[in-house]
Amino acid sequence: MRRIVTWPLACSLLACALSGCSRPTDQPNFIIIFTDDQGYGDTGRYGAVGFDTPNLDRLADEGLRFTDFYVPATVCTPSRAALMTGSYPKRVGLHEAVLFPYSEHGLNLDETTIPELLQPLGYRTGMIGKWHLGHQAEFMPTRQGFSYFFGVPYSNDMDGFLYRDRGFQSPPLPLYEDEAVVEDGPDQAQLTRRYTEAAVQFIEDSRDGPFFLYLAHNMPHLPLHASEAFSGTSERGLYGDVIQEIDWSVGRILATLEATGLDERTVIVFTSDNGPVLRPNAGSAGGLRGGKATTWEGGSRVPAIVRWPSSIRAGSVSGEIATTMDLLPTLVSLAGGAMPEALVVDGFDITALLLRPETEPSPYDALYYYSRDGLPEAIREGPWKLHVAKSRGWNPADGDFPVSLYNLAEDASETQNLALGHPDLVERLRDKLTLFDAALTRDARPVGTRDPG
Ligand code: MG
Repeated sequence: MRRIVTWPLACSLLACALSGCSRPTDQPNFIIIFTDDQGYGDTGRYGAVGFDTPNLDRLADEGLRFTDFYVPATVCTPSRAALMTGSYPKRVGLHEAVLFPYSEHGLNLDETTIPELLQPLGYRTGMIGKWHLGHQAEFMPTRQGFSYFFGVPYSNDMDGFLYRDRGFQSPPLPLYEDEAVVEDGPDQAQLTRRYTEAAVQFIEDSRDGPFFLYLAHNMPHLPLHASEAFSGTSERGLYGDVIQEIDWSVGRILATLEATGLDERTVIVFTSDNGPVLRPNAGSAGGLRGGKATTWEGGSRVPAIVRWPSSIRAGSVSGEIATTMDLLPTLVSLAGGAMPEALVVDGFDITALLLRPETEPSPYDALYYYSRDGLPEAIREGPWKLHVAKSRGWNPADGDFPVSLYNLAEDASETQNLALGHPDLVERLRDKLTLFDAALTRDARPVGTRDPG
C-alpha cells in the first residue's frame, strides 16, 4: 500500500527524529467508541429516560453533538464495513445482511481501512470488542490494519447457537487476544468491564503515541448482560443497567486520558452501529419511527458525539447531515495525511464541520438508505426524505408500501406522507436514488473470499 505521509508531516517527523522528541505534537490521538444497537434516544443529551449517562453527557457538554448523524446500514456487518472503509457497504460487497459463524467471507483484504491509513502516519492501532467483518483467520482485525486485538469476531448472540436451517452448531463465543483464542464462551456479564480495562491499558501503553483505538462494545446487543456492580442500578431494567455500565466505561477512558496528560489532544467519537432492536425492554429511538433493520429514521439515525478539547468548542450542536463513512477521510486529514488518489470512498472529510458547526454546511448532496439486504429504499436531500420500498418495518397486512415523502425538518418522526402534494419532487428523488444505486452497483468491489489454496 502506498504511503500517504504529506510533506509538512514528513518534515515534522524528520525534525522529530533528528531532535529526538517522542512524537510530533500536531497529530491527535483517536478513540472511536462504537456501541451495538444503542438507539437514538438512549443517551442523556438525546433524551434518555430511566437511566443516567453522566459521562456521555460530559462528552456532549465538552464537545459537539450531532442531531442528524447516520449509519448507511442498519445491521451490524454492513454498518461496520462502512465505518472501517468510509464507503456504502455495497461498494465493498458487504451489503447483504450479516456474517454468521458459518460464513466463509469477510472484508476484502484489498480494501483500505482506517487503521491501514493511520499506521503509515505513525499511529499505533488497536481494536477492542466486536469485529464482525469476517471471522476466518485471514479477515480478522490483525490482518486489516490493527496491531492489537482483544475481543470477539461476531455478535454475542452467536455464542454456541444452533442454526437449524443449516444444521450448523456454532462454537462457544471465541475471545481473542491478537490472533489466539484465549477463552471459549467468556462470561458476557464481564465483557464491558474487560474491554474497558483493555482500553485503559492500551491508552497507557500508547502514551508516547499517536494512537488509534477502536472500542466496539458488544452491548447493548441482545442478549443483554451487565456486571454485578451495575445490575439493578437503573429504572429501565437490564437495558438501562447495560447503558449505565457503558457510560462508566466512557468515564474510565476520560479519567485515563486525564491521568496520562493526553486529554487535550485526543479526539473521542461516540456513536452506535444502528438503531434499537424493536422489542420490549430494549432501546429507544427517541421518538423516531422504526428501529434496527429498517430504513426509517429510527434505524439509520444514531447518537453521535465528538469531543476534542483543544479544538472543538464545548457544547456545540450540529443539525447537519454527517455519517460514520466520514470518519475515515476525517481522521486521515486530522492525522496530517492525504487520501490515496485512487481510493474511492463515499464519506467526506468533515473537519470543517467539526471545527465550525455553526456555519459549515453538510457536504452531503443526498443520503441513501439501504435495506438489510442491500436494496435501495430511501433517499434524503436536505429536509426531504423519500421512501420507495420497505423490506422491514412495514406490515404486509397493510397492503403494498406506498411511496412516502416526509419533511424531516418539520416531521422527524415520519408521520405525514406528503407525496401526493409533491409529484415532481417525488419523481426527481426517485430517479436520483435509482441512478445512484445503478452507479454504486456498477462500481462495487468484490467481497473477500477465502483463498482456496
Ligand atoms: Mg448492531
